[in-house]
Amino acid sequence: MASIDTTILAFEEKPLHTPSLEEIRNVLATSLTSNFGHVNVEVVDCPNLMEEPFHLAGRGLNGSPTLVELGGPPYLLPNVDYTKLYDLVSISQRALNDTKTEFLAIGAGAGPYPLVNSNCEGMFNLKVQANGHVISESHLARVTPDRKKPILEKIPSNETRCALLGNIFLSEGKPGKVLKVSCKKRTGPKDFIASIRTALEQHYTNRTVGLGGVFLLKNGKAKQHVMSPFSETPIHTEDELNSWLNFFDMSAKLIAVGTLVTNECDLDLRLQHFHSFSRHGEGGHYHIDTTPDVVEYEGYFNVGEKIVRVDKPINTHKFGRD
Ligand SMILES: [Zn+2]
Repeated sequence: MASIDTTILAFEEKPLHTPSLEEIRNVLATSLTSNFGHVNVEVVDCPNLMEEPFHLAGRGLNGSPTLVELGGPPYLLPNVDYTKLYDLVSISQRALNDTKTEFLAIGAGAGPYPLVNSNCEGMFNLKVQANGHVISESHLARVTPDRKKPILEKIPSNETRCALLGNIFLSEGKPGKVLKVSCKKRTGPKDFIASIRTALEQHYTNRTVGLGGVFLLKNGKAKQHVMSPFSETPIHTEDELNSWLNFFDMSAKLIAVGTLVTNECDLDLRLQHFHSFSRHGEGGHYHIDTTPDVVEYEGYFNVGEKIVRVDKPINTHKFGRD
């Protein structure tokens, strides 16, 4: 099935509040200590994220930083809308005002189900050069037929579709200053991303701040889910959803890509969404580490200048957004 023609998709955009990296560093350095035993937040020159241990398709997170949300859980639940296939390249180009610059798109969403003839998780990680050439480090995760194990595979560079829903961070992939957030030993109830998001939400209240980037679970394990093949019966309740999802305890090192935003900005947004891949065959939708005593996180983030909402569901619900 072909992806939806991007020119007919509804696009809405809003500017985000863009505090300086130094200001955010100060907010996080204080707040994250309520959730982690060791916290270090710095503004640094972005390391080359194409290298070990990050394996991104682009070097950095700078140049026109933009958050994009595609579709949403209402296209998956209670029933799947198989027509919802989005082309990440043309959507990213339109979100960046068709400026014909090179860009890096990283984030979390539903994988391109026609590629493997099965519903799957997508870990999107692709660079598109100014001439349109795609370099992809994207992965997808699905489950074995007995649903006992995750399977992680590389997505080929000629496959740039995202199904149903997605949260993508766009930038020109340039080097530059970014926020480095290192945390060890979790002492509170919040996952790494929720701890950052809620700290920013408390500080900035009704001013919407959005971040995107990559974090590494350096040590320990994390609870992650991988969706089953599409359900033949509608999924209506949280219990039905949780028995359809497959939860695994996945091991470091996990490389997670995605976005967070402090409020919905009247755009029906998912507030946080990160998917991880690895070099050891595991990958999925990040929930929280399961080894708080030994967990170590290292994340690199940049601040989005705007949020672009693409194909927002008209009949929405708040179900399936954890
Ligand atoms: Zn997900």
